[in-house]
Amino acid sequence: MLGNLKPQPADKILQLMGQFRADPREDKIDLGVGVYKSADGVTPVMRAVKAAEKQLWETETTKSYTGLAGDPAFNAAMATLVLGEALSDRLSSVATPGGTGACRQAFELIRLANPEAALWVSDPTWPNHLSILNYLKIPTKPYRYFDGETRAVDFDGMMADLAAVKAGDVVLLHGCCHNPTGANLTLPEWRAVADLCEKTGAMPMIDIAYQGFGDGLDDDAAGVRLIAERLPEVLIAASCSKNFGIYRERTGALIALSEPAKREVTQGTLAFLNRQNYSFPPDHGARLVTMILEDPALRGDWQAELEEMRLGMLGLREQLAKELRTLSGSDRFGFIAEHRGMFSRLGASPEQVERLKSEHGIYMVGDSRLNIAGLNAKSVPVLASAILDVGI
Ligand code: PMP
Repeated sequence: MLGNLKPQPADKILQLMGQFRADPREDKIDLGVGVYKSADGVTPVMRAVKAAEKQLWETETTKSYTGLAGDPAFNAAMATLVLGEALSDRLSSVATPGGTGACRQAFELIRLANPEAALWVSDPTWPNHLSILNYLKIPTKPYRYFDGETRAVDFDGMMADLAAVKAGDVVLLHGCCHNPTGANLTLPEWRAVADLCEKTGAMPMIDIAYQGFGDGLDDDAAGVRLIAERLPEVLIAASCSKNFGIYRERTGALIALSEPAKREVTQGTLAFLNRQNYSFPPDHGARLVTMILEDPALRGDWQAELEEMRLGMLGLREQLAKELRTLSGSDRFGFIAEHRGMFSRLGASPEQVERLKSEHGIYMVGDSRLNIAGLNAKSVPVLASAILDVGI
C-alpha cells in the first residue's frame, strides 16, 4: 500500500535552510526562513514567556484534557487582543495548533458551510494558503496585490479583480505585515474592501500572524477591527508564533464572527472540526499566552519586548533603505522603509536571487522575499552592496 505513495513537493524554504547550513562560508547571511532573530542571530524565548513557564511549572496541578475549543480564557484573551473587545454575542472561537491550524480549520469550516465557495487569495500569498486549499480541493482565485514596479500594493488592480467576487465567496486578506511582500493596505483601503464585501455578499477571512510586528499591537489590528465592525460574518485566523515567540508550541486561534442567532451552531461546528482533526488543541502555549495577557506585569514586559523587536526591525529597514539610497544615488529602494513586518519582497529576478546566494552567500527565498530580522547593523551594508552588485 505505501508503495503507491508519490513523493510530495519539497518545501522550498526548508530546502533553502538545508543549503544554508551546508554552506561553509563564515560570512553567509540567512534571510530565508520566517522566524524572528535578534541582532546576534538567535530566536529568543521572550522574558514574559520564561516567567510564565516558571509560574506554570510551580502551579499547574493537572495535564488532563481541556475543552474541545481549548481553554475559554485563552479564547477570550485572544479575541480581546485581536478585536480590542469581546463582541460576545457574535463571537465563536477555538484554540488551534498555530496559525496554520487556524487557517486549516477556517478552510474546512468554509467548505462545510458552502461547498461552492471560491477563495480569493492575494497574488502572491503565503504559499501554505494555496497548498492547504489545493489539498482540500477548494477552488482558489488570485487577485492582483503587489505592484512589481513600485513594490507597493496595486490597489486598483486588486479592486478590479475583486469586482468579480460572488456572494458566498471568501476574500482572504492578511491582517498586517503581508507575507511575502511586506506591502499592506491602508485604512481607507480596508474600508473599500469592507464596502466591496458588503456589496457583493462575500465573506472576509483575515489571517493575522504578525500582530505587533508592524506598527504596534493596536495599529496592526485596525484593519481586522474595521472589518469586524462592518461585516456580519468574518473569519479570523490568529497566530501566537511570532508575537509571543512560541513557534514550536503551536498556538493560535480561529475566531468566527456570525449573526448572534448563529453563534451557538458556529461555535459547535468549530469544536466539532477540532474533534475531527485532533480532538483537543495543544494547551501549553495557549496557557502561557493567557497568563501573559491576563497578568499586568507579565503583559507589560511582553509588550515592552515585542516593541523592542518591532523597533529593531524598523531600524534595520531604515538603515537598509538609507544605505541603498547612498550607494545607488536614487530613491528606488525607499519601499524597504515603507514595508512593515518581517518581510520585504525586493522584486529581484530568480537569477539575481541565485547570484546573491552563490556569489555573496546571502540566502533569501526565490521570489526575493527577505527576512529583515535576519539582518543586523553590520550585515546591512554587506547586503546593500550585494543588491547593487547583482543589478537589482
Ligand atoms: N499565516 C501567515 C501569513 C504566516 O506567515 C504564517 C507563518 N509563517 C502563518 C499563518 C502560521 O504560522 P504558525 O502556524 O507557525 O503559527
